[in-house]
Amino acid sequence: MIEKVDNFLYKGLRKKLVDNLRNKGITNENVLQAIENVPRHFFVPFGLENIAYEDQALPLSDGQTISQPYTVAFQTQLLDVQPGMKVLEIGTGSGYQAAILAELGAKVYSIERITKLHKTAQYTLSSLGYQKCQLFLGDGYLGKEAYAPYHRIIVTCGAVEIPQNLIKQLAVGGKMVIPVGINTQEMLLVVKLNEHDVEITKHGNFVFVPFVKGS
Ligand code: SAH
Repeated sequence: MIEKVDNFLYKGLRKKLVDNLRNKGITNENVLQAIENVPRHFFVPFGLENIAYEDQALPLSDGQTISQPYTVAFQTQLLDVQPGMKVLEIGTGSGYQAAILAELGAKVYSIERITKLHKTAQYTLSSLGYQKCQLFLGDGYLGKEAYAPYHRIIVTCGAVEIPQNLIKQLAVGGKMVIPVGINTQEMLLVVKLNEHDVEITKHGNFVFVPFVKGS
């Protein structure tokens, strides 16, 4: 059924999107392949399917957005996911980023604070067969202690600081990609060197919806 709707037209548009991302500097072939595999038109609101493969952010309900494909590709490339890794995502939104992580072979745990988005993402991911994604409703500031430590953590909303709980729940040697800033955000890569030290590098400016404290 799903296969039938994911028709030739959308496959062609996905290939074009991948070419576009390659031209913009995305080099990781596994990430590009994941973008080619995930049918983004299932994750956008009804009526916006025709522009699902433009390289732009699109509105979700409650003033939230599904990130621009370039941003998804950039963050995912920086995250450096290997098959079998446990990855925690903060900000499930549409579930699209979670599907990309699942395509890379990750075991995905994703937290969202808005009930409607959480439920819609749950439906979309399970109907597309992304069984490896476990979604939770709650406050991402707290992380998800029950499944910690995580090899990777990806934050898809703009934080004003790096939440200490997330550093605690990151495995030693693990990496976190988090956009930090008030109006615009700087993309930070945080590597946990040992129980006490992290190394932080900066990777350019982006704009995200806010990381809201409290669920
Ligand atoms: N990764 C998403 C992008 C969603 S936009 C996708 O692929 O579609 C960021 C999301 O972060 C929004 O849905 C917003 O509701 C959520 N968010 C903001 N603050 C949060 C918090 N404290 N805990 C969990 N989710 C949060």
